[in-house]
Amino acid sequence: MRVTVLVGGVGGARFLLGVKAALGLPPVGPGESEHEITAVVNVGDDIWMHGLRICPDLDTCLYTLGGGIDPERGWGRAGESWVVRDELAGYGAEPTWFGLGDRDIATHLVRTNALRAGYPLSDVAAALSTRWQPGVTLLPATDDSVETHVIVDDPATSEKARKAIHFQEWWVRHKAEPRAHAFVSIGADKASVLPAARDAIRDADAVLLAPSNPVVSIGTVLDVPGVRDALRETRAKVVGLSPIVGGRTLRGMADACLTAIGVETSAEAVARLYGARADGGVLDGWLVHTGDAADVPGVQVQAVPLLMTDVGATAEMARRALELAGVAVA
Ligand code: GDP
Ligand code: CA
Repeated sequence: MRVTVLVGGVGGARFLLGVKAALGLPPVGPGESEHEITAVVNVGDDIWMHGLRICPDLDTCLYTLGGGIDPERGWGRAGESWVVRDELAGYGAEPTWFGLGDRDIATHLVRTNALRAGYPLSDVAAALSTRWQPGVTLLPATDDSVETHVIVDDPATSEKARKAIHFQEWWVRHKAEPRAHAFVSIGADKASVLPAARDAIRDADAVLLAPSNPVVSIGTVLDVPGVRDALRETRAKVVGLSPIVGGRTLRGMADACLTAIGVETSAEAVARLYGARADGGVLDGWLVHTGDAADVPGVQVQAVPLLMTDVGATAEMARRALELAGVAVA
């Protein structure tokens, strides 16, 4: 069975641990299985910093599935040290608001060298995977640059002025506090879906949308030209899992993203944002958390526990999603 999952960073990576477990693979590291899992990963958070190409969501998946993640923070490397960051601060080198750990920097150096040599990002992801052995094929949604920028007020210029800042600056530096007026996927107009990602969606037996940020993770993947087409063309059922539980986002500020695009923070509103495949959208099925409800014409909705408290609970979520996609596993 071929399962393809659209993912962002922390939420997506945690969900992939459960998908692996549901398909009989060890959650961390490689393993033997008759099943094949492909993750189509958001690149909207990618950014240049200090001359290095940073790919937060790809690296979160890589480290989480490969056993290198810091379990407390949920991102970055375990056992991290911060010598380079402190030295950069000593120079007053901007940006100072994004902490690059020493171990993590090695990943960014390897990636940046390869990109500068002309390798596409997907090849770099494959090369990094030979070290981390995530047990899942990690594909960037595109080899092209598609960066999420956020339109915010610019009170320093004038009362009505607005400016665009990189999503990371809004999220990490400003904690998503300045009201976002819109999100723009810079480069999306000239980008195209990675052919391997398109094929992984088209030829899958089941396609899952992880309970990732619906706007700046899944939304940005869907913004890459060719992704929605592949989702419409696939024979597989497309099933999403709600990142909104009891009208709230878990571990994060995704509600600020939804508010910015005028969408209520509820499981039903996110399903309506994705839309029914029967109606030009992307969903056949939608899992909401027990006690939540969603009524979306054309979408089969089921309520099951959706809290990723441990791998067992997450594997059960994956099993229920696969069941709804019509490819039940034991
Ligand atoms: P990021 O790229 O690191 O921000 O991570 P993602 O976009 O992949 O995931 C963030 C989303 O995961 C947030 O919108 C959360 O609401 C959602 N999330 C986090 N933990 C859980 C959980 O246990 N259950 C569900 N259903 N969603 C979760
Ligand atoms: Ca992210």
